[in-house]
Amino acid sequence: MKISLIPAFDDNYIFHLLTEDGLSIVVDPGDAQPVIDYLDKEGLTLQIILHTHHHWDHINGDKKLQEKYNCEIWGPEHEIMRIPNMTVLLEDEQTYTLGASQFKVMHTLGHTRGHIILYFEKDNALFCGDTLFSLGCGRLFEGTAEEMWLSVQKIRALPNHTKIYCAHEYTQANASFWQSIEPNHPDMLHILNDIKIKRKSNIATIPSTVAFEKKYNPFLRADDPTLIATLQLQKKRPKDVFAHIRKLRDNM
Ligand code: ZN
Ligand code: FE
Repeated sequence: MKISLIPAFDDNYIFHLLTEDGLSIVVDPGDAQPVIDYLDKEGLTLQIILHTHHHWDHINGDKKLQEKYNCEIWGPEHEIMRIPNMTVLLEDEQTYTLGASQFKVMHTLGHTRGHIILYFEKDNALFCGDTLFSLGCGRLFEGTAEEMWLSVQKIRALPNHTKIYCAHEYTQANASFWQSIEPNHPDMLHILNDIKIKRKSNIATIPSTVAFEKKYNPFLRADDPTLIATLQLQKKRPKDVFAHIRKLRDNM
C-alpha cells in the first residue's frame, strides 16, 4: 500500500492510501481541495473516505468529495450522530478489508467519545487521528486522563516497527514541552535538533514509529520509573502521572 501525506490547514495531515490493487482512499479529509488537487495530479479518483473522529478539521471535506467522486464514508459507529452520510460503521476490534489491504479498528477513548484508530498490520501502518501525536497526545475533550492512558497503551502494544501516522504536525511544540519536563534526557538535544532541521525545510516529522514514541513520548511513559522520578511523582499511579503530564501540557 502506498501512503502519501496531504498537508491541510496550518498543521493537519490528510493521508492518501493506494492499495496494491488500486483502491484510492483518504483518511480524515478536513478539507476537500488539497485532496482534489492531489488526486488530479496523480490521475486518481476516490473510492473511500475513512474517519477516526468527528472533529471538523477531519470531516469538513466529506461533502464536496462525496459529491464529486460518489465515494463511500466509513467511520466510527459511536460518532454516527456527528459524522454525516456514513455508509459503513466501524466497530471496535473488528477487521475490515479494503481491496488488497486490511485494517483493524481500535476504540480509543480520551479525545472524543467515539474516536477510533485504524491499524494496517500487513502494511505496518497506524492511523491514529488525534489520539497520539509525535511526542504528544490529543487533548481530553470528551474523556478522562485514565481513558486516554488506556488508549495510548493500545498503541504502545503494537510492534515497534509500526509507522504512526498522526493527524497533526505538532512535533516541534511537543518536543519543547518534553524538554520542559525532562531537560536532562540524554537524547534530548539531538532529537530537538533533528526536528528543527526538518521543520525548517518544511519536511514532515510524520510518520513516527511505535519504537520512537515508546522511548521518548512522555505520554507513553507514565509508568517509566526514570520519568516518574524526574517529575517527583514516585507515589503516584501511572494514570495519575499521565493526568499530571497532560495538565502540564494544557497549561504550557
Ligand atoms: Zn480532533
Ligand atoms: Fe484534529
